[in-house]
Amino acid sequence: MSQEEVFEKEKRYMMPVYKRPRIVIESGRGAKVTDYTGKEYIDCVAGIAVNAVGYSHPVVLKALKEQADKLMHISNLYYTEPQVRLAEKLSAISGMAKSFFCNSGAESVEAALKLAIKTTGKHKFIATEGSFHGRTIGSLSATFGTRLRAVFEPLLVQDVKFVPYNDAAAIGAVIDKDTAAVILEPIQGESGVIVPSGGYLKAVRDICDDKGVLLILDEIQTGFGRTGKWFCKDHEGVEPDIMTLAKAMGAGFPIGAMLAKEGIEFEASEHGSTFGGNPLACATALAAIKVIEAEKLVARSKELGEYFMDAVGIGSNPIVKELRGKGLMIAIELTKPCAEIVADALERGILINCTSNNVIRLVPPLVISKDELDAVISVLRELIK
Ligand SMILES: *Cc1c(COP(=O)(O)O)cnc(C)c1O
Repeated sequence: MSQEEVFEKEKRYMMPVYKRPRIVIESGRGAKVTDYTGKEYIDCVAGIAVNAVGYSHPVVLKALKEQADKLMHISNLYYTEPQVRLAEKLSAISGMAKSFFCNSGAESVEAALKLAIKTTGKHKFIATEGSFHGRTIGSLSATFGTRLRAVFEPLLVQDVKFVPYNDAAAIGAVIDKDTAAVILEPIQGESGVIVPSGGYLKAVRDICDDKGVLLILDEIQTGFGRTGKWFCKDHEGVEPDIMTLAKAMGAGFPIGAMLAKEGIEFEASEHGSTFGGNPLACATALAAIKVIEAEKLVARSKELGEYFMDAVGIGSNPIVKELRGKGLMIAIELTKPCAEIVADALERGILINCTSNNVIRLVPPLVISKDELDAVISVLRELIK
């Protein structure tokens, strides 16, 4: 199929949900992807912080192929080994007790909301301004802002109060006797890599403990080494009651998980999923985690993130409002819309994207080489003048 045919058929047969640049990506290797014209790009979007171990990693592909040969799917009516191996591994790296597997971020948030209701017997939630937790009705109810919600309001779940992010006292002030849980991202991703002050998570944890409500941390974007720790909560040593995961978990294979600490769990039939934790997804995710460990990508994320911050040298630029981030989760907030810079970068073989109109977000594969990162830096320096 030609590139033009892809554009044409997309327009004709697909719902116009996504706005995308007019390139068709055909393949990827390491931190680079190639389009239909043979042009290569260094990818700082990484499938929205999904391809942490890069494209076509041989260890991941081997695990995927071997498992596909044996058994792709059987449902949760039967035991399978990849599932329990992955659950054991997740406990080891996260410190959480138990896992429930699903297929996406939004689904893990749904599971978290349900688990909080079932555990507390209460129905109210507190979320933060600027939050993004997903597009399903429940997760959307905890997502801030009219842009994503307006046409669907009133949502089915209305008991969510939004308070300013990075303000623990504001959470304390709205908790009442019907509050089940507080849900927040340790760094807000979609609203532009908003990094809260040190101590915020710990203060929220203390308030939740004090008032007897659960803390749900949404680590869907920040998890698996993205911020320079296995999970962003580890920067402050804060343990949530419930944690949601997806994105980088399966190295591009769709999988999500909702983890909880000891004593907080569903019982038989209280929740479920047909595909959730199927052997193919779990074997692939396990391989992805092993790659992150073997190649020390968590430390690499921290080092390369710090290197980028030092080297990019655009901090005192009139169109740069702020440079911020943790590990390889980086944002350059501009004083103007960034669409043009994103398009120019694409032209020069760099994929970056724009969150909330004027924020360039960089979440490259954690395997990106120093040379590739230098190439990104040099293009950004040129474009941000
Ligand atoms: C992407 C994301 C989600 C939603 O994940 P999907 O897999 O798109 O459903 C939820 N929360 C956060 C923090 C995310 O970044």
